[in-house]
Amino acid sequence: MAKLTSQILRSMAHIKLENVVKRFGDVIAVKDFNLDIEDKEFVVFLGPSGCGKTTMLRLIAGLESPEEGNILIDGQRVNELPPADRDIAFVFQFYALYPHLSVYDNIAFPLKAVKVAKPEIDARVKRVATILQIADMLHRKPSVLSGGEMQRVALGRAMVRQPKVYLLDEPMANLDAKMRMDTRAEIKRLQHEIGATTIFVTHDQVEAMSLADRIAVIHQGVLQQIGTPHEVYNRPESLFVAGFMGMPTMNLLDAELGTREGGSGLRLSHTDVWLTLSPHQQAGISATAQNNGLVFGIRPEHINATREPVGRKIAAEVHLVEPLGAVNILDLRLGTHPETQEPILIRVRTHPTFPIAVGGTIWLDFDEAQMHLFDRKTEYAIWERNLT
Ligand code: ATP
Repeated sequence: MAKLTSQILRSMAHIKLENVVKRFGDVIAVKDFNLDIEDKEFVVFLGPSGCGKTTMLRLIAGLESPEEGNILIDGQRVNELPPADRDIAFVFQFYALYPHLSVYDNIAFPLKAVKVAKPEIDARVKRVATILQIADMLHRKPSVLSGGEMQRVALGRAMVRQPKVYLLDEPMANLDAKMRMDTRAEIKRLQHEIGATTIFVTHDQVEAMSLADRIAVIHQGVLQQIGTPHEVYNRPESLFVAGFMGMPTMNLLDAELGTREGGSGLRLSHTDVWLTLSPHQQAGISATAQNNGLVFGIRPEHINATREPVGRKIAAEVHLVEPLGAVNILDLRLGTHPETQEPILIRVRTHPTFPIAVGGTIWLDFDEAQMHLFDRKTEYAIWERNLT
């Protein structure tokens, strides 16, 4: 199989985006976007609806042109190059197969369009169909295929062209959950075997985490962070990334530096929770950041909870229990906002057998190596953390 696939695709590409800007009237869809995508890399553009993911992909494909900046493929500036000359294959969310053509002819279509010789077309279609495990349905029409099979035909039509770059825009959006998982595994396996530079757009963080070599998190047209899934999840560089990644997402609570008996520390606002900081952590908090306001972050899975106060420092009342099957999510009340009277809540994950009910008290301990701090005004992370 590996030999077969290596014969199919070999042409590789490095993509460089330099200060790219794209506006639609008053909307700035892409703001000063800089990114280097390595040859053979699998990069996922991740962000909420409307953040500019598709626009960035269309700019790379040549379906839109940037107002400012440069798009380079293998060192060549392609800003003015028409899509057909960029050697890129695009798979859209809604895979438009030709209903009157067989699977074979759908896959062969891009080759026929550029008048590739028939024996060559036949060989390439069959090789691609074998990889995608649709070789036994080449004679069928799209109407009798399942969603996942149609998706693979659409991918096959992209693969058969042997382009330098694949651009996949939510290609699994209309598949059911099981099919998404299967197709996700298939895409990952194929990309590994083929080794073509691939950019995949999604708003689904699980899809992004499982597929990407690196994830580019985008918000309001701005690249927030680029890093491996591990880096983006464990070392978020901004409040947006911290709040976007994870299910449930990171707890983010207002905090301030203060002093109390026994020394100084970080207090979670409107609570009795004081955290002792290392000298290094304390030194990292500039006067400017203190003026801007601090936001403390910790993921639910980095909080240990027990029924008894043994070795635990923080008491909290259970506000809500959400049973999710494999785990329970507990919303715990740490205090009350003095003006709004809203509860100050923190979420923890517990084993489903953890014996607790609403109104009960439990004891918490934060994993000190996993605590985050952000500047509320700039929204940037204050502490640099080493990944373990
Ligand atoms: P989704 O996940 O919903 O597809 P997205 O992250 O891909 O969203 P884009 O489609 O790139 O976002 O859109 C970014 C912004 O640009 C949005 O505010 C959108 O409304 C705007 N936009 C995109 N295309 C056009 C257009 N052709 N004309 C006007 N505005 C546009």
